[in-house]
Amino acid sequence: MVIVKRRELTLAERLYLPEIGRALALSLRAMFRKRVTRQYPEEPLPTNEVTRGQPRLVVKDDGNIACVSCGMCEVACPAYAITIDGGETDRAIEREPKRFDIDMLRCILCGFCEEACPKDAIYMSDELELADFSRQALVYDIEKLKRPRSALQKRIDYVNKLNDRWRKPSSTR
Ligand code: SF4
Ligand code: SF4
Repeated sequence: MVIVKRRELTLAERLYLPEIGRALALSLRAMFRKRVTRQYPEEPLPTNEVTRGQPRLVVKDDGNIACVSCGMCEVACPAYAITIDGGETDRAIEREPKRFDIDMLRCILCGFCEEACPKDAIYMSDELELADFSRQALVYDIEKLKRPRSALQKRIDYVNKLNDRWRKPSSTR
C-alpha cells in the first residue's frame, strides 16, 4: 500500500488567494491590451476597393444602365440569386433588362457576376449592411441596384488593374 503524504495547505491557499491574485493580474493585463472588438454600428467596418460587398448595377454617364441583359451573370451565379427579364430599347443594337432582381438573402458575395459580365455592368460595391423587416424587401430590384458609375469607380479601377495582368504580353509581366 502506498501512502501519499500531502502537505498541509497554508491559510492563503485554503482561501484561494494565489489563484485570485493570478486571475486579477490576468484581467488587469487584458484591460490594457489593444481592443479587438468594434462598437458596431457606431464604428462601421472600414471598406476599400478590395471590399466585396453587395453587387450593384452601373448607370453610365448618359443615364442609361450599362447592362444589356445578356444573362451571363444569371448563369454564373452559384446561388441562383439573380433573375433577369430582358427587353428591347429604342437605342440601336442595345437591350436592357426590364427586370433585374438580386435576392440578397441568397447572394454569397462571391463576385462571379462581376467576373462574368462582358459589359462591365455589374460590380461589387462596398455596401455591406443588410437589414429589413421581410424577406421580400431583401429581393433588390433594378431601382435598388442602380448606382452611378462614379460611386463604383474605385472598384472598377481595381478590377481593371487586376485584369490588366492578363492583358499584358507575358514578356512585360
Ligand atoms: S455575388 Fe455571387 S452570389 Fe451574389 S449575385 Fe453575384 S454571382 Fe450571385
Ligand atoms: S452579365 Fe452584365 S450585361 Fe449581362 S445581364 Fe449580367 S449585368 Fe447585364
